[in-house]
Amino acid sequence: MPSASFSIRTFSYNPSWQGPLTNGISNWNGTATPAAIGTLSNSRNTLTATSYSDTWYGLFTSSGPRDSSRTFTIKLNSRTIARDATNFSNMVTRVFSHELGHGLSMADNPSTSSSSIMKYTAWSTLVKPTAYDIAEVNRIY
Ligand SMILES: [Zn+2]
Repeated sequence: MPSASFSIRTFSYNPSWQGPLTNGISNWNGTATPAAIGTLSNSRNTLTATSYSDTWYGLFTSSGPRDSSRTFTIKLNSRTIARDATNFSNMVTRVFSHELGHGLSMADNPSTSSSSIMKYTAWSTLVKPTAYDIAEVNRIY
């Protein structure tokens, strides 16, 4: 997104999802970065968690130019997450945090030896943005 401060449309899921999703936002907002992610009933950015037949855990899609008109959708795949999680709530938080990382302009699977939530590893164990992730967001914004 053009700014590290953005909103997502207010969402409501059952408690096994809602808490972990809320943690995904809090974990970013708790970093020493400009990340300031909120929820708003009329936000044009959306989160949908449901069962998709696709193989991915989560999908971030943005549309529009990189200015204040840009919007995004985040989809989380309850089917693959439930299938592969060794710690369900951790994995929900992690996948959402990863997709929010895209909202913060981070790329997939960075070529670094450092730990990162943008890598395709440790889905059920690495939950919070790492020092690398924090440095990246601070570099971008
Ligand atoms: Zn990704």
